[in-house]
Amino acid sequence: MANHDVYADIGVIGGSGFYSFLEDVTEVSVDTPYGSPSDSLFLGEIAGRQVAFLPRHGRGHTLPPHRINYRANLWALRSLGVRQILGPCAVGGLREDHGPGTLVVPDQLVDRTKSRAQTYFDGEPRADGTVPNVVHVTFADPYCPDGRRAAIKAARGRDWEPVDGGTMVVVEGPRFSTRAESRWHAAAGWSVVGMTGHPEAVLARELGLCYTSLALVTDLDAGTETGEGVSHTEVLRVFGENVGRLRDVLFDAVAALPTTVDRDCLCTHAHDGWDLGIELP
Ligand SMILES: [Zn+2]
Repeated sequence: MANHDVYADIGVIGGSGFYSFLEDVTEVSVDTPYGSPSDSLFLGEIAGRQVAFLPRHGRGHTLPPHRINYRANLWALRSLGVRQILGPCAVGGLREDHGPGTLVVPDQLVDRTKSRAQTYFDGEPRADGTVPNVVHVTFADPYCPDGRRAAIKAARGRDWEPVDGGTMVVVEGPRFSTRAESRWHAAAGWSVVGMTGHPEAVLARELGLCYTSLALVTDLDAGTETGEGVSHTEVLRVFGENVGRLRDVLFDAVAALPTTVDRDCLCTHAHDGWDLGIELP
């Protein structure tokens, strides 16, 4: 599938407010054995690197977090040649010192989603008759260390000191948390709460891709603040205020990522010792 015209080695999966990440793009529609991705992929160039942008919720924000076809999204990106992914997302802060406008580059993840397909390797026959084996990937460190380093360096270069590390808990949504849930998440020591960071991260790992989350805090979560609770309007407002500098950081992070041939992180060893049973794109 990868050829000169339709190729990218870096993917950016953008959240709310990120529908036009690149200028001068080529729009490519990609189909996968898992169905269609959230939208077309938009290919462009940043600092000499070929980048594919995918709006996570579709360009009109028509897909809620639990209905996003995460498997199709990651598969489609890999089929274009993508090996490294930056995943910006809006999150709620679970600590008072993680207020709106804080950028967190988490190093841990807790999955509290309920209904999402989160593996390619379930032993079930696919539509084309091929059958993936059952595979258990290592996920102790869910994010790419090299990608995290690039993201943190990029943020510092833009005078936006990020939080280096922390735990993102991913909930099913689409509703926001109750105060009790929020207090529980905070008491567990977790940093931020989101709705899309999983299974995006684990599916990337299953495909041997590097995945880095850049979590922009848009609000303090219900148990952390004392007001009315989180509203979507407020989330969009704070995201809008920060989208420009987040875009700058992403551009710089893209430029700082290792090239595909130089990649030598734990993500590249996800399949060591496993017979997958299927061909990856
Ligand atoms: Zn990696």
